[in-house]
Order: sequence, then structure tokens, then C-alpha cells
Amino acid sequence: MRKSIATVSVSGTLQEKLVAVAEAGFDGVELFENDLITTALSPAQVRRQAADLGLTIDLYQPFRDLDSSSGERFRANLRRAERKFALMHELGVDTMLVCSNVSDDAVADDTLLAEQLHTAAEAAAAHGIVLAYEALAWGRYVDDYRHAWRIVERVDHPALGTCLDSFHILSRGSDPAGIRKIPGAKIAFVQLADAPLLAMDVLQWSRHYRCFPGQGGFDVVSLTEHVLATGYDGPLSLEVFNDVFRKSDNRRTARDAMRSLIALEGDTARMATGEPLATPQHAPTPTGFAFAELAAPPDSGVADLLRSLGFRHTGRHRTKPVQLWQQGDARVLVNAGGATPQLSAIGLESPDPERAAGRAEDLLSPVLPREWAPDEAKLDAVAAPDGTALFFCRTGHDDHVDWQQDFLPVAGTTEREAGVTRIDHVALSQPWNQFDEATLFYRSVLGLQPHDIVELPDPYGLLRSRAISGPGDAVRIALNVAEVRDEEHITEPPTQHVALGCDDLIATARRLHANGVPILAVPDNYYADLEARFELAPELLADLRELGLLYDRDERGEYLHLYTKTVGQVFFEIVQRVDHYAGYGAHNAPVRLTVQHAGGH
Ligand code: MG
Ligand code: MG
Repeated sequence: MRKSIATVSVSGTLQEKLVAVAEAGFDGVELFENDLITTALSPAQVRRQAADLGLTIDLYQPFRDLDSSSGERFRANLRRAERKFALMHELGVDTMLVCSNVSDDAVADDTLLAEQLHTAAEAAAAHGIVLAYEALAWGRYVDDYRHAWRIVERVDHPALGTCLDSFHILSRGSDPAGIRKIPGAKIAFVQLADAPLLAMDVLQWSRHYRCFPGQGGFDVVSLTEHVLATGYDGPLSLEVFNDVFRKSDNRRTARDAMRSLIALEGDTARMATGEPLATPQHAPTPTGFAFAELAAPPDSGVADLLRSLGFRHTGRHRTKPVQLWQQGDARVLVNAGGATPQLSAIGLESPDPERAAGRAEDLLSPVLPREWAPDEAKLDAVAAPDGTALFFCRTGHDDHVDWQQDFLPVAGTTEREAGVTRIDHVALSQPWNQFDEATLFYRSVLGLQPHDIVELPDPYGLLRSRAISGPGDAVRIALNVAEVRDEEHITEPPTQHVALGCDDLIATARRLHANGVPILAVPDNYYADLEARFELAPELLADLRELGLLYDRDERGEYLHLYTKTVGQVFFEIVQRVDHYAGYGAHNAPVRLTVQHAGGH
């Protein structure tokens, strides 16, 4: 499919937008009228610049409030349209978006509306132009795509088709299956956008919160499948109004937009035929954590912390200053680099590491150079949007080289095992303007499922958090954005952490206390509140209070957890999941944040 994007979707002047969109590999653009009005370029120059960049201008938009209950005003609107037709000639555009009327002057009667659209289509046809009539979700009378199609069908003019916009259809909860009743040739244009599921005025929702397919909560894949089933063969075009994208790096936004369309195309084909496309390659979802890697200078205290958490130093890399620490199935690499300890890489278990890396590359993710000696395991790695390196590993299988072969065993380490069995989740801090990009990345590149965004009070702002998980919750990642009041509080406290799972946190916590692990202190008021909220056995409450544990419960199970103090930019959480608790103790995060801000980290 040809891929297009509305100029309104990225930041910059018109020239900057066209360059960014072309660099991302788009075939064309929807030219937003405001971008034309505000540029010093003449229409002919815009046309030339787009052509020089290899872009077609696929749509001119929007033309608002065409119909009128007054014949005189309709004729004035028609004159306005004629001016635009002439302009479109200069621009070399042959399709104009006409959106349904939102004004009090709108025509309520379908017969009159059809007459006026017929007149407009005649005028457009004289210029070789096609009108794409779109139902805005907040149109005065026409606010549903099926209504817009009924009018277009009734007019039955070759210069009039309908424009389908996924936001207007899905925001109203309309069933997109009705699209299949529209002949593909009568669909003049298709605009795609996703959005988070919000309960708010639909106009504000549309103008500020649209996002690229795969970033929100709409089923854009099914809608696109219905569109393609009609035989529509025009461009798939992204039309996204988003407050964050308006002020973000336009090259980055454009590349993310392209990633979203490539993923959408692959998912749609798979839904329609059951077969994946050649590009993007289909890859199995990660099945677990192979390791978490901390970059830390040698004297940073990370080794001491790991030792007191019960880890053993079990290996050292053959050629690099990297240590392997292990406890149960939890593995932590400590890479002697960087100025301050931070979570720098994650190893993900993949049934097929090569395909996983291939899919990431097809979806425009930066593949990291494999600077390894010839006898070493060549690990496929890509950079996540926040710069974290993701390694695709296959640990302990004969059919694939094992990354652990690169580590020589280390003898003579002390054992202070504390009952940690695995990595439960990792939490990654995201830059505020890359939250949607990260969601799309983990969803489309890795095949993980995003969950609802939660907003947690922080004493100096808000923490936005979204969990992403794979089948069976074998891989859980929490993406966090700290929205706090000023620079001073942005980096403190860090939100990156590695959560380690155990089977009996009370026993583990006793070991950790005995080992001297610095554990975050929890205010006594917290336990008074716990007592009020849950009917906990007095002995359990006493243990929680004594050991500095936090507690949560939902209908599926219970969650016990504790936090260590921070080393550099990272800290550890130790968790116990009872039964099928699937959350992350979000209710307790404000307690942690407040203690950490107060210097308790
Ligand atoms: Mg639209
Ligand atoms: Mg956590």
C-alpha cells in the first residue's frame, strides 16, 4: 500500500515537515491548509519541493461547512471551493477532503444535502478533482460514516467519494464492518489514527490525543482489514493531531509513524490471510528474561548490593569487563562502564533471536553493532526508544549458541542466598515525549501487550506508568514517565528498577536484613492504612511492618514487595506474587516515591 501522512502530524514548518516525512520513507502527504497558508513558498514551489523529495501530495484538506440551508450561502461556499480547486491545480493535487458541516447552518435534509454535494461534485469534476466526503464524529447532522456513505451513494457522481477516518468511526463506537458494504472505488481516501480510550468530549479527544496505530486503544487493524476487503487501493494515510508530537523532533515522529504503518500492514495481512507478510518478518514473542545488565563503575557499590541480595558472582566475560551474577534463574550482568550505575541492557529469551532482530530492523529499530570476538556468541541486539539495549537470547538450548559460553566460571564466591528465583519485571524510565513511541515499539517490535496507563501521585508531580507484558506474563516491563515540577526533581528519584521474584518474601526479607541490604523505610502511617483497608492477620501485619514490606491485593491474588535503596540511577524491588496477582503494586508507588524524594534512597 502507498503510505501517506498528514502534514499536521509532525512538528515544524512545511518545508521541515516535508523533509522529515520524506526521510522516513513516506510516498505522499495530505497537505493541511494551515501549513500552506503559513509558508512563504508559493503553491508551485511547494509542489516542486514535494516532488524533489519524492513525495506526492495526495489530499488537500480540510474544506469545511460546504452545504448550507441558505441557497445564497451555499453559492458563496461553492465560490470558495472554486478558489481552492484552482489552488489545487497549482499544487498538483486531485483530491479534496470535504468534512461534514458542524455549523448551525448545516443542511439537515438528506435530499437537499445530496443536491448540494452533486452541484459541488460537478464543479470539482470540471477541474479533474474528486471530493472525499467525511463524517466528522461531531458533525451537526452527518456524524457517522454510514450516513456519509448513504449521501455519497445517493449523489452517485464520479467526482464524489467518501473519506473514511478511523478516529471518527471508532471514537463513536461504530461497527467498522459496515465499511465492507462500500465499493472500494467509492472510497476516495482513508485516514488512520489511534487514540487512548478516554471519556471526554470527542472534539477535544480528536484534536489533542490522537496517536499512531498501535499506540492507543482502538482496533485499527480490523478497520483496515475491512477497508482493504472493499478493494480500496489508494493510500493509507495517518492523520494525527497530538499535543506531544507537535513539539517533538519531527524526524523521530515521522519514523515512528512509518513504523506504525509497516506494523499495521503486516498485522492486517496476517488477519486477512492468516499468513504474515515477508516484511515485516513475523517473530515469536519473548518468553522470559535472560538477564538484566547494569552499567556501573567498579567502586559503585553494585557488587556489594548484589552480594547482600544473595547473588553469587559466577562468571566473568572472556574479553570484556563484564561480570555475571546469579541467584536462582535471575541473572544480572555488571558491566564496568559509565559514570553512575544504571540499567543499560536487558536480555530477552527468544525462541528465534535472528527473526526477532530481523523484525526489529524491518520496523526501523536501530540494530546495534555486534562488536564481539569471532569465538563469541553473536548476540542480536536492538536499541529501544529510550536507548536501552535489548539482546535476543536463547539460553540453554542446543539449537542456538548460548551467550553464557562467553563467561568463564568464577570460583570462591560466598553464598548468602536469599531465595530470589527469577527476574519478575524491569521498570524503565521513558523521556516524557517518547511514551507513545515506546508503547508502539514494545507492542509492534516485540509483540508484547500494553496495559492501561496509570497515573500515580508523586509529591512533586505525577508518575505515568504503563505495563507491557507477554504471554503468561513471562516478560513484564513497566514504562514510567516522571512528570515532576522541575529539573531538580526529574532525575531524583530514578524510576528504573529491576524487580526480583521470590516464593516467600517474609523469609527472603529476613535474609536480606541479616545480609545488611539497605531497605527503603516505610512510614508507619502506611501500615495503619493497610490495617484499615485489608483485614490482615495481626501476625502478617506485624511481619510487614517489622520488615518494611509493602502489600497489595486484588481479586486475583496478593502482592508483597520491598525496595532497596538506590545505587546511582537504579534500585531493586523484591516481590512475591500470591496466586494470580498480575499488577505491580501501583497503589504503593506514591509511598516509595515520597520516601525516595525525601532522601530515603
Ligand atoms: Mg480526518
Ligand atoms: Mg516495580
